[in-house]
Amino acid sequence: MNAPSPLFNTYNRAPIAVDRGEGVWLYDTAGRKYLDFGGGIAVNALGHAHPHLVEAVKSQAEKLWHTSNLYEVPGQKRAAERLCNASFADRVFFTNSGAEALECAIKTARRYHYSKGNPERIRILTFEGAFHGRTLATIAAGGQEKYLEGFGPKVEGFDQLPFGDLEALKSAMAHDVAAILIEPIQGEGGVRSVPVQHLKDIRALCDENDVLLILDEVQTGIGRTGHLFAHELAGIEPDILASAKALGGGFPVGACLATEEAASGMVPGVHGTTYGGNPLAMAACNAVLDVVLEDGFLDAVKQKSLRFKQGLASLTDRFPDIIEEVRGEGLLLGLKCKVNNLEFVKALIDQDMLTVPAGSNVVRILPPLNITDEEISDGLARLERAAQSLSPKAP
Ligand SMILES: *Cc1c(COP(=O)(O)O)cnc(C)c1O
Repeated sequence: MNAPSPLFNTYNRAPIAVDRGEGVWLYDTAGRKYLDFGGGIAVNALGHAHPHLVEAVKSQAEKLWHTSNLYEVPGQKRAAERLCNASFADRVFFTNSGAEALECAIKTARRYHYSKGNPERIRILTFEGAFHGRTLATIAAGGQEKYLEGFGPKVEGFDQLPFGDLEALKSAMAHDVAAILIEPIQGEGGVRSVPVQHLKDIRALCDENDVLLILDEVQTGIGRTGHLFAHELAGIEPDILASAKALGGGFPVGACLATEEAASGMVPGVHGTTYGGNPLAMAACNAVLDVVLEDGFLDAVKQKSLRFKQGLASLTDRFPDIIEEVRGEGLLLGLKCKVNNLEFVKALIDQDMLTVPAGSNVVRILPPLNITDEEISDGLARLERAAQSLSPKAP
């Protein structure tokens, strides 16, 4: 069937050879057209080939790509300033990926305690079902056996606690804890929202114990939930936050955001990156921010979410044997399935529609944030046909 591949054999790829994209549409090399509600796993927040992003990257590409962080990068300061003005943060460190943003967040938290004379505070409390990336430290943080197996000793200093269990968290609050690390909504874990009250309780617990709160908003951030960051829904603020995915709109950009206080241990020489925040990446990032921070943009995401969720709720009513429930916030939506989620994803590909499977038997739906009402209706119609195709035949 398939010719031997020169690539590492780490992915079971769908047999779609991607060629070009336009808005919510993705075309394969044979010209077949897909409605892309996977968005490169929550990355293409403005769809494919958004004219403003294309123009920004093109004109930067003609000017300057890369210089390293040995020099000032004006686009980096600008992006950081805009992120800080729009959030809890005072300081930003740019990276190339989500996992690197998390690595920076973990180092920032430990270094904070170290610089305050508490070097014993190194432990990071995380939660079952979490996903924080694929580096050695972030697989330890995620704590999932399937990602840890065969890669040698688990990096020291990460403890997984049961999801949503405040008592377990209270008992874990020892003198050596540096931070709690949590996704406001678990993405890979199955679009599982942390209840608002639980996030508030976690914030309070951190304050009582001189423990930092790190939010992993790699998937939930940059407008995905109808807020710039998902924690705004809970009315709390973290000390440190990891962002990536949508931040570059498809160009690899990540960032670690922190308060002045939390970032106080990160002094010259303790951390670095060759590529992170290079001029080309910052052109993409600033172009994304131009659109997402525009007046009314996030409100429109909320409106679209309502519309989409109503359609999904009615689909759930009509296909109770296929779909168990609708999950998520904004345009980070999940269908918990009664049938196998991979089969549903496959049935959607048969309808020329792309989605992303997640844990807990969930199908993730991650359309561009600037999707139109017609495109939502088109997606709902394809979801319906896919559900129909999986339904037991009428007698
Ligand atoms: C995708 C993701 C990561 C990892 O990001 P990479 O860019 O793949 O390193 C970390 N945390 C969450 C919540 C994610 O969704």
